[in-house]
This record gives sequence, structure tokens and C-alpha cells, in this order.
Amino acid sequence: MEKRELVIIGAGPAGLTAAIYGRRAGLDVLLLEKGTPGGQINITDEIENWPGVKHASGQELGNMFREHAEKFNTEFRDTDVRKVEIREGRKIVVTEKEEIEAEAVIICTGAYFRRLGCEGEAEHIGQGVSYCAVCDGAFFEDETIAVIGGGNTAVEEGTYLTKFAKKVYIVHRRDEFRADRAAIEHALSNPKIEPVWNSVVERIEGDGMVENIVLKNVKTGEVSNLAVAGVFMFVGQAPYDEPVRGLVKAAKGGWIITNEDMETSVEGIYAAGDVREKGLRQVITAAGDGAVAAMSAVSYINEQVHLRSLLMEPEHVVAFFYSSIDGNQVQLSEKALKEAETMGKKLTLVDGYRNGKMVEKLELPGMPTLVELRKGEVVRTESPATLEKVLSFLK
Ligand code: NAP
Repeated sequence: MEKRELVIIGAGPAGLTAAIYGRRAGLDVLLLEKGTPGGQINITDEIENWPGVKHASGQELGNMFREHAEKFNTEFRDTDVRKVEIREGRKIVVTEKEEIEAEAVIICTGAYFRRLGCEGEAEHIGQGVSYCAVCDGAFFEDETIAVIGGGNTAVEEGTYLTKFAKKVYIVHRRDEFRADRAAIEHALSNPKIEPVWNSVVERIEGDGMVENIVLKNVKTGEVSNLAVAGVFMFVGQAPYDEPVRGLVKAAKGGWIITNEDMETSVEGIYAAGDVREKGLRQVITAAGDGAVAAMSAVSYINEQVHLRSLLMEPEHVVAFFYSSIDGNQVQLSEKALKEAETMGKKLTLVDGYRNGKMVEKLELPGMPTLVELRKGEVVRTESPATLEKVLSFLK
């Protein structure tokens, strides 16, 4: 089976940033992506909150990210990842055509716009029902269309769609938008935009192309028709979590839970970007997550590879775990090493402060701790307070 150090799944801003950081730290990086790299920014019209670039299209920024990752010789592979599995402690990435073993995996699969689920929606996808204003807006030149939702996406994309449509209704189930104030003011000051409050879509109708939507007022129960040629659904997002569904802990809706080091509930598997449970899903936060995840993976891999060969693979090892930020423990470790040499015994020093994962893995009580391992199995531990205790453990 192919063996790699770091496998990143998804080439959006999180994945591409993780690749840049991983490569710069000297890792072997394989970036798996289905289709065009860039992720959701490819379908974003304008990006004006990436510092240093006052204005760019999503595609322009996405291309720059990709070129940057290429500059550091990231290996890209176009493939569909089916799942990530743990087999006998090994991380296996199963794709449509192969299996790849990875030391560490970063999930950067992103999110997508949810379907509304009303009658007539599925049949009219591509026939007037759309989830991407940048992709499909131009088809509605001089038409009347509806946007469904009340978040930032609905309000901002609704404004964008006025470039093409002669009229844009924003249909929202409450009587106020949840989008931020600036976006709302911008939208509501546009004469082409008309909000339709307290309303939900019951049905999308049209023989072939969309012609009409049937709305229900949630306050009065009144049902009405709205003649439109297109419906843009922006009712929130959902994560592309399939490859790790059931493997890592997730919040309601499937958003992957990580700590601030982007670690998931499974050791050596990280998540970064929109797929994560988080407050702000933006290009900049995705990129930030990617950098953190890569650096966490770098220390994990270094720790794993180095310590595995030092502690888990030999027949017999006695190791002294100490904390490098405790002066007394550092002194004790140095003296112990010297004495062990004089006794003709081999003692392996491990900085447990910097290798906390191994301390956890071996279930050590804390530091300083002496541990005797046979073929990677702990047979004895002791927390020595003095040099004498260390020496008697070694005897
Ligand atoms: P969102 O903020 O979750 O908004 C989803 C909207 O859809 C809400 O208004 C919700 O109504 C409505 N909705 C959900 N289910 C519905 C249903 N079954 N029927 C009718 N309406 C339904 O999603 P989003 O707008 O895609 O934004 C996602 C995240 O990205 C947010 O954190 C947003 O701030 C961020 N974002 C930021 C920017 C920016 O900063 N420029 C741009 C785009 C997105 P309720 O309000 O009643 O719940």
C-alpha cells in the first residue's frame, strides 16, 4: 500500500494553506481533491476581505493559493475520497481507486449549500433552481427571480443578482434578516430588491423551467403565488463530512469538532476550514485553520516517527520522561544519563513536556517518570524523586 506522511483531503483555502505549511516544514504532502482546486471560493464573485488584496474574484484568489502550494512541490491528485479508516492503529485513506496509508490526515473538505427540500426543488435544479449566484446569475438577465434565506449569503448574493435580474425577491421565514447590518443596508437600499417576510416556499412550479413559487405566510397561513423565472436557495450550509462520518466526533449537522490545534477526536486526524464546527466560515479563517492543522500534524509526525523508533520498536528500552521546563528535572535527567553510562546501562531520555502525546499514550502518571518497555509494552513505571531511585530502577 502507498505510504505517505501527510495526506490532505480537499484543496480549498484550508487544504492549500495546510499544504504550503506542511511542505515548508519538510513533510511529504499529498493533496487529494475531486475536480478543480479552490473549493467554494471558485463560486464566490468578489472577495474583499483577504488582507493585502483589496479586490479579487474567488477564482483569482483560489488560483493564487494553488500556485503557491505548487511552488513548494505539493503533490496533487484528482480523486474521490470515500472514507478514512483506522486499521490496527494505522490511518488509511480509501479513495475510489486505491488505499493510502498516512501518518497524519487533514480533512479540509469544506461545506455546501443545503437544499430546501420543498416540492418541485429537485426536479428544477438546473432548470431555474440554483445554489450558486456566480455560476448561474447571468442566465437571468432582465428576469424576476427569488432568493430564499435571510443570512449573509442570501442577502449578499441577492444584491449580486441585481446585476442581472430586473427584480429580486428575498423570501425569508421571519421578519428580519440574520445577515450583518452592512449587508442588509446595502441590499435594502437597492430598488431592485424586495423582501418577502414571514414566508416559506411550499412548492416550486413550472413546466420544464421554473415559472412560479407557491408561498405560505407563516403568520397568517395565507398561500400566494410569486411568478419568478429562477430561485436561488441560500438556506444555510452543511459539511462535506462523509469521509469521516462516524469516525470523528461531530456537532449537530455533522460539523467536525476540533480543539484549537485542529485535532479531532482521533489522534493524527485533523480538520480545518468550513467543515469544522466554528463561528466564522471565511477564506481567512479557513487558511488560518489550515496553517494550524499542518503545524500540529508536523509535530505529531515528528513525535510519532522519532519516538516510535526510539521506544516502541526495540526489544527492550528503559526511558526517563522529564519536563524540559523544570530545571530540577533537567538536572536529574542529565545526572541519570551520566550514571547509567557509568553502569553500562542504556537510558533513553524523552522530553515529556514536548511529547505530551506519548506521555498520554503510555498512560504515564506525570513527570519525571521512568518506564521500562518490552516490544512497546509498558512493563514497569516509577516516578523517581532522587538519583538513587533512578539508579535502583536501572539495576
Ligand atoms: P446562515 O447564516 O445559516 O443562514 C441561513 C438562512 O436560511 C437563515 O436566514 C435561515 O433562517 C434560513 N433557513 C434555514 N433553513 C430554512 C428553511 N428550511 N426554510 C427557510 N429558510 C431557512 O447561512 P449562510 O447565509 O449561508 O451563511 C453561513 C455562514 O457564512 C454564516 O456564518 C455567515 O455569516 C457566513 N457568511 C459570511 C459572509 C461575509 O462575511 N461576507 C458571506 C456569506 C456567508 P433563520 O434566520 O430564520 O434561521
